[in-house]
Amino acid sequence: MGLLDLDKIIVKRTIVGIRCPSCGGNLIEAKKKPFIALVIKMISFGRSKPKTYECENCKKRIVLLS
Ligand SMILES: [Zn+2]
Repeated sequence: MGLLDLDKIIVKRTIVGIRCPSCGGNLIEAKKKPFIALVIKMISFGRSKPKTYECENCKKRIVLLS
């Protein structure tokens, strides 16, 4: 498991129990995908499917790579 806190990007192998790294709040799936998620998908040739979450509490957006 690697946790990379680089401009709101999280690299984590297990999705279970993921929480906001800033405030520990619940993460909900974001409706809008940020540009970085599209970039990750492109550079990984579609093998990586980034999921975007938003913190219920502080509205911080998280890109999760699985
Ligand atoms: Zn938060």
